Amino acid sequence: MTGRFGFEVLHKDSRTNARLGMLHTAHGDVPTPVFMPVGTAGAVKAMPNDWLEALEARIILGNTYHLYLRPGHERIKRLGGLHRFMDWQGAILTDSGGYQVFSHRELRSISEDGVQFRSHLDGSKNFFNPEKVIEIQCALGSDIAMVLDDCTAYPAAYADAEASMEMSARWARKCRDQWRKQDDESRALFGIVQGSVYPDLRKRSAESLVELDFPGMAIGGLSVGEPKDLMYEIVECTVPLLRWDRPRYLMGVGTPQDLVRAVAMGVDMFDCVLPTRNARNGCLFTSEGRILIKNAIYAEDQGPLDPNCSCLTCRRYSRAYLRHLFLTGEHLSAVYNTLHNISFYLDMMRKIRESIQLDFFGNWLEPMEKGEIESR
Ligand SMILES: [Zn+2]
Repeated sequence: MTGRFGFEVLHKDSRTNARLGMLHTAHGDVPTPVFMPVGTAGAVKAMPNDWLEALEARIILGNTYHLYLRPGHERIKRLGGLHRFMDWQGAILTDSGGYQVFSHRELRSISEDGVQFRSHLDGSKNFFNPEKVIEIQCALGSDIAMVLDDCTAYPAAYADAEASMEMSARWARKCRDQWRKQDDESRALFGIVQGSVYPDLRKRSAESLVELDFPGMAIGGLSVGEPKDLMYEIVECTVPLLRWDRPRYLMGVGTPQDLVRAVAMGVDMFDCVLPTRNARNGCLFTSEGRILIKNAIYAEDQGPLDPNCSCLTCRRYSRAYLRHLFLTGEHLSAVYNTLHNISFYLDMMRKIRESIQLDFFGNWLEPMEKGEIESR
């Protein structure tokens, strides 16, 4: 473990707010903008680590909620931390568990003290508060940890969104104070902007977090059912409120076009279950749009999944074979489909970084403005 956590903006695109950057972590440097594959329970589903390494994935996500319930953060700590447990050499970001608790709405109750929730596995009673989620993430050994936040549901009345945002801000301060006790500058704790779809609440939330001096800031509480245009509006008005010299992370978003549009607004980091979950459901992202591999038109299609992709799935297997694996429920269907979708996302981010470096990132927006890739 060497070095301090840090971030540099290396270049700004001339026509948009897109930035090329570099995150420095104790587990290596991560070029941004970056997409982080989701490794919920200590594994990116259906994707071996050495394939992730071969695709040059430098950072993945782990879920505090799931790892806390199973196998337990104390056990992971005894086994040397999450990196060692899952033998992942790159960086790991863990969420705080707030969003998972939020998604199991019927199983939880929230108060100023924290969140009482029942395990979705066995119904056992559990409690998260700001201090607890920091303790868990420290035990896991995350390179980047997240504060506990209350993810406001959509739609939310203004007064409810305001109360929820204010509580998240108080929790953020408690998390920061707890985090500082460990005195380890190789890791970072990020704040999370809430405030639903109300720009003035987002502004107040961002200002309170900037004051707390987090080394990175996330935009949370989006992609929870609001219309797309509204999501883009909120991202666009929130990003300029975040510090220029710190990484900006849009949580849980999204599709390839979401990533392009948010990069243009100045977002640096993304995570989403879409490429991995869709892969298991036979929905594949390609340079020619989305493909549902179960469709009969692929039954005798000997072509590759994506002629412009160089992943192992596209080099070796036909659409006909991938359709057969999917329809027969073979485990390899999820494996090959996931490899392709992750490869597609990471390859897209690599091309985005190259285009920012060369000042032609704006070209990515043109097909979207013309509506050419709206179906993806
Ligand atoms: Zn491929």
